[in-house]
Amino acid sequence: MRYCIFSDVHGNLEALQAVMDAFTKDRIDKYIYLGDIVGYGADPGACISGLQSLGPDHLIAGNHEWGVLDLLGIDYFSEYARSAVEWTKGVLNAKELEYLKSFRLICHAPGLTAVHGSLDQPDKFQYIYDPSDALRTLQISDTPLCFVGHTHRAGIYVSESGEVKAAGGSKVFIQRRNKYIINAGSVGQPRDGDPRAAYAIYDGEEGTVEIKRVRYNIEAAQDKIRSSGLPVWLASRLAEGR
Ligand code: ZN
Repeated sequence: MRYCIFSDVHGNLEALQAVMDAFTKDRIDKYIYLGDIVGYGADPGACISGLQSLGPDHLIAGNHEWGVLDLLGIDYFSEYARSAVEWTKGVLNAKELEYLKSFRLICHAPGLTAVHGSLDQPDKFQYIYDPSDALRTLQISDTPLCFVGHTHRAGIYVSESGEVKAAGGSKVFIQRRNKYIINAGSVGQPRDGDPRAAYAIYDGEEGTVEIKRVRYNIEAAQDKIRSSGLPVWLASRLAEGR
């Protein structure tokens, strides 16, 4: 079974279309979406339609879904995130909101768990930025692999004989004795210095996880953000990948 796990599209239709084109060559059996389909970008409705057309087997809720649905207070969001949540609320229709309500906090599939932020408090949307943040989720996870998003930084953490470290490179061969956290990165607003859209492929037969990157039309996504009334920083940051 080959899984495609992707996250944080954030209303960026150009990036979503680019990864969906790439998916057609990836021989994918199942899709897992890790949350934040809306927020920041100018095309939340079109991105929801795109996601629906793929028909993921699992849909995970991110803090932006919960913010838009009023399930989460957004006072602690950054100024830009708050503006994006308010703007997004104004453009989504009832059917689109209904779809976002179907997203769940955690999902399980054979050999893997998926959550937007972290497993210890999935409804608090905490960030895993480094090995010490990863520790709690690795202890809780009862599957060899746990996929996360939320930080918009693609990467892989491995717990090997009780020690947690960042695994270098974009592909790992899964060792049975280890546990892994894989951050699938962000499709629509990468913040790891690489502006290309990111996603992950887990191949159960091969026993591998790979992070992939795809170029997309950043200028087109930026133009739409600038003309939509969203904060301009949300456009400029896309080119910088931060
Ligand atoms: Zn996000």
